[in-house]
Amino acid sequence: MLVMKFGGTSVGTGERIAGVAELVASRLAEGPFVVVSAMGGVTDALLALSRAAREGDRTGAATAIATLGEKHRTAVDALGLEDGAAGALREEISRELARLEGLATGVALLGELSARTTDAICAAGELLSTALTAAALEKRGVAVARVDPREWMATDASHGAATPDEAVLAAKAASRLLPERSAGRVVVTGGFVGAAPDGSTTTLGRGGSDYSAALLGAALQDAGASVEAIEIWTDVDGILTADPRVVPTARIVSEVGYAEAAELAFFGAKVLHPATIRPAVARGIPVRVKNTFRPQAPGTTVRAEVPGAGVMALAMRTGVAALFVGNPRMLLAHGYAARVFAVFEKHAAPVDVIATSEVSISITVDARAPIDDLVRDLSEFAEVSVLGDLAVVSVVGRKLRSTPRVAASVFAALGDINVVLISQGASETNLTFVVQAPDASEALRRLHRELFEKEAA
Ligand code: ASP
Ligand code: MG
Repeated sequence: MLVMKFGGTSVGTGERIAGVAELVASRLAEGPFVVVSAMGGVTDALLALSRAAREGDRTGAATAIATLGEKHRTAVDALGLEDGAAGALREEISRELARLEGLATGVALLGELSARTTDAICAAGELLSTALTAAALEKRGVAVARVDPREWMATDASHGAATPDEAVLAAKAASRLLPERSAGRVVVTGGFVGAAPDGSTTTLGRGGSDYSAALLGAALQDAGASVEAIEIWTDVDGILTADPRVVPTARIVSEVGYAEAAELAFFGAKVLHPATIRPAVARGIPVRVKNTFRPQAPGTTVRAEVPGAGVMALAMRTGVAALFVGNPRMLLAHGYAARVFAVFEKHAAPVDVIATSEVSISITVDARAPIDDLVRDLSEFAEVSVLGDLAVVSVVGRKLRSTPRVAASVFAALGDINVVLISQGASETNLTFVVQAPDASEALRRLHRELFEKEAA
């Protein structure tokens, strides 16, 4: 079995939905379960609609609903359905819009918007894209079971960021989803949306469809099925060895371990959020990132762990400042470091790279942190200097600390680029250092050449 999840851009127009249906239809032998996001931009539009209604802007709300109707009806036209199927779909769109109108009117009258109502409004995006995708598959002769996500995505009642109940999901997979597969039907369902124990509509939080897909795969597996992979179909080729805007020669990483994927996401590679795929990875189900627009590209597979060692990718984050906190008399004194970090804690400034020397502790923070406040409080017991306009560069890989020569080749590659701070990650998955922001792109290119382009030559 296979879970195929399609993101907002992948189902962004009727033509694209037709393409998705082709893709699914070509994989029937693998037993696909299909999860879709709302059409691109629709969740944002629904949130804007909610806000307009809350502010009593009835015209704004009506316009938003009309625009949503237009977008989905245009998509129906592009699917080239039989008259009957197209008519049924248009009627369904009208019913959904009428429901939104009712909700918007209620919100406008009360001037009050709860998270519960926001969820009821936002769910429309996934419900409609599911209907469109199911129709596109049926048009290709595929037997489809369209399943409302509220029938299986059981969550708690934390509207807007609901927590799924994995034990209930497994039971629903067994009672509601697997029987459809046994009957030869392809389940098509919406991501992001769920239902609380009282039956009210919930959502998993923005971007929650990846999480839905991973949870679905996990639930099917828990229910006794064997799930080969979760495929996250998106608009990029996968995880790259570096940001291609900075390093044009960057290439796709074919396999990555969960820890490395998490490290890369932390450093700004936004392909997928590791926490969302954890339910799948924890059960040994590989998660494959694929490009809907270039399905022939191999993509990146994330697994719990991948064997081997060595550098996998580079990441960089700008907008960083460093604080150098020194007190020659105090540095080694008991409790000094705790006192320093307590100041960061007090100002809720997450610390990033940390390095210590004989005379100072160097700490980087986001440049938007309350640096003046930090300096004022630290100055009560230490000498502080600040360096802004820095960038953190991170070399991510497996077993980096125990792989000989990684650090040596990294610093050789940097050549005359000045390194402000170095921190061999607390884990084996990264080697991180700080440079002046204007040097960062060049640092990345030099590293890429040294670490990725030499072996191939
Ligand atoms: N449609 C939702 C969002 O835009 C969920 C998703 O696309 O993953 O946040
Ligand atoms: Mg998305």
